[in-house]
Amino acid sequence: MNKVVLTADRPSGKLHLGHYVGSLVHRIQLQKDHRPYIMVADVQALTDNFEHPERVAENILEVTRDYLAVGIDPHKATIFVQSQVPELTEMTVYFLNFVTLARLERNPTVKAEIAQKGYETSLPMGFLCYPVSQTADIVAFKTDIVPVGEDQLPMIELSNEIVRRFNRIYQTEVLKEAEPLVGKVGRLVGIDGKEKASKSLNNAIFLADSPEDIRQKIFSMFTDPHHLKVSDPGTVEGNVVFTYLEAFHQDKEEVAALKAHYQRGGLGDTAIKERLNTTLQTFLAPIRERRAPLKDADLKEILHTGTQEARKVAQITLQEIRTAMHLCYF
Ligand code: ATP
Ligand code: MG
Repeated sequence: MNKVVLTADRPSGKLHLGHYVGSLVHRIQLQKDHRPYIMVADVQALTDNFEHPERVAENILEVTRDYLAVGIDPHKATIFVQSQVPELTEMTVYFLNFVTLARLERNPTVKAEIAQKGYETSLPMGFLCYPVSQTADIVAFKTDIVPVGEDQLPMIELSNEIVRRFNRIYQTEVLKEAEPLVGKVGRLVGIDGKEKASKSLNNAIFLADSPEDIRQKIFSMFTDPHHLKVSDPGTVEGNVVFTYLEAFHQDKEEVAALKAHYQRGGLGDTAIKERLNTTLQTFLAPIRERRAPLKDADLKEILHTGTQEARKVAQITLQEIRTAMHLCYF
């Protein structure tokens, strides 16, 4: 079945391993038989970077470069830039009517981000409302599947609530509910042991990191603070090195054996970090090599073509929305 798949990333920085396991891996698989739309969410990135728009502008091409480097095929996927599809902004304004302030404030992901950004005392409305603009992104393309990390589940739930409300009030089926698709690693922890690797927290290994940076980040990883001597029994739960080995090491039996050895004692932190270093260097080297020769002009062309295609689809949905809302006077 040809389903519509939509995903997005904020161009607030380059993409990292969390993006890979959380969402990119699914996009690469789904592009074989489905219709993926991949959006560079610059409008959303501005909601907490509006004072530094150059940061967002710079990263639009970097994120696109990451897409191609991991194997997203621009002939199969429509890659586009959010701000250049103004139909999405218009939809967002209409959808704001279908959600209350209390409902937006209840979103656990937004709540955590507000605390993390120190927005408790002066919260920009654009930031609080970004899940509503995500609803526009999802419905504009009649999306069936949204491959996301766990942190995005409350957004999809809200989007589906807005869809149901809209369709009920206007007695229509114009908007479609979407299903999230969460990977086996729904939330990759940060290298600092914080619950999520993220661009904003700068606690991630980026797909474009140099071999030296990768090594240095692995050696700074949080392990087991009580594992002082190699002979001590160690804990694997909450141990970032093992979390990353589980997510990226191909040989599952070897990971199980390493875990058992670490737990009974006799396996040092340096040894497991060296093992992870080999794994991640092997995984990231081809991505970095595919990334390097991609030219700005070619990436811009891909975005330009994709944006034109995306706009055509969004225009059709917007017209249906306007009709349902009786907004066709002339
Ligand atoms: P920012 O810190 O600017 O919000 P981010 O690192 O959270 O950046 P996003 O662009 O917000 O990245 O997220 C894009 C997609 O990648 C989302 O579907 C999100 O759930 C997923 N994702 C991001 N970080 C992780 C992670 N650590 N583990 C799993 N999925 C992730
Ligand atoms: Mg995020």
